[in-house]
Amino acid sequence: MDEPRYVGVPGMNSIARHLAQDLDVRLNTKISSLNQLEKWQLIDEQGLRYDNFESVISALPAPQALMLLPEKFAHHAEIKTIEMRGCVSLMLGFSKRLPLEFDAAHITHSDISWIAVNSNKPGRGDFFTLMVHSSEAYAEENFTTDRQKVINHLCHQTSQILGHDVSNADFKTVHSWRYANNSNRDTYPPFADHDLKLAACGDWCLGGRVEGAFTSALNLAEALNKRGD
Ligand SMILES: Cc1cc2nc3c(=O)[nH]c(=O)nc-3n(C[C@H](O)[C@H](O)[C@H](O)COP(=O)(O)OP(=O)(O)OC[C@H]3O[C@@H](n4cnc5c(N)ncnc54)[C@H](O)[C@@H]3O)c2cc1C
Repeated sequence: MDEPRYVGVPGMNSIARHLAQDLDVRLNTKISSLNQLEKWQLIDEQGLRYDNFESVISALPAPQALMLLPEKFAHHAEIKTIEMRGCVSLMLGFSKRLPLEFDAAHITHSDISWIAVNSNKPGRGDFFTLMVHSSEAYAEENFTTDRQKVINHLCHQTSQILGHDVSNADFKTVHSWRYANNSNRDTYPPFADHDLKLAACGDWCLGGRVEGAFTSALNLAEALNKRGD
């Protein structure tokens, strides 16, 4: 494959863990609104308040960013035009390898859009694992479908594509992502409102992968630094 793919080792979240090591990160804290006082105040869903923020940067999927950013945010209308589509992911684990000769494959005209041999990533251990992503259309139609039915359907489709029966996998799990991809795949410059001191970035600005998430945040940080924000 000509296009390089970057992989976190030993897991994808190692990249975020490394970048966050000197930061004050609050987990399991859903922010439900922003308040403009002298500085910005964040309020979480329990009603707890976090005060005195000079600026607020949203790194949430576009529709979730819009739930927080006020309509007067300079880029509100443009972000509103960005539609995000879902993805259902099936993870399969096998104690014995399947004889597949690829690391990852794009699939077209199917309820499956991508199959990756996750265990081929460096440092993943001996268990043979496949990561199967549904098409956006399948995800949109099946968010509320019974999970076992979804697993059975995606296993059946995967078996047909690979020519190997995967229904006998030792481990099967499925997870739905409501906002996985920016549907138009357009790219966007950083969304900064220097007057309000609000900004937004995320992988949806730049390609839908960790590379996009990182570069979008880097572009935004450079734009803010340039202005001295
Ligand atoms: C199944 C799946 C597999 C993937 N595999 C790969 C891969 O192998 N390689 C790759 O490069 N990319 C992969 N991606 C894409 C990659 O995960 C994304 O590009 C990346 O996570 C985007 O990072 P982000 O910081 O922009 O947004 P996100 O990772 O979406 O982070 C946004 C965070 O904001 C939180 N949040 C939302 N609303 C609020 C709120 N109101 N208050 C507080 N927090 C909030 C969310 O819970 C979430 O944790 C995959 C995506 C999916 C769905």
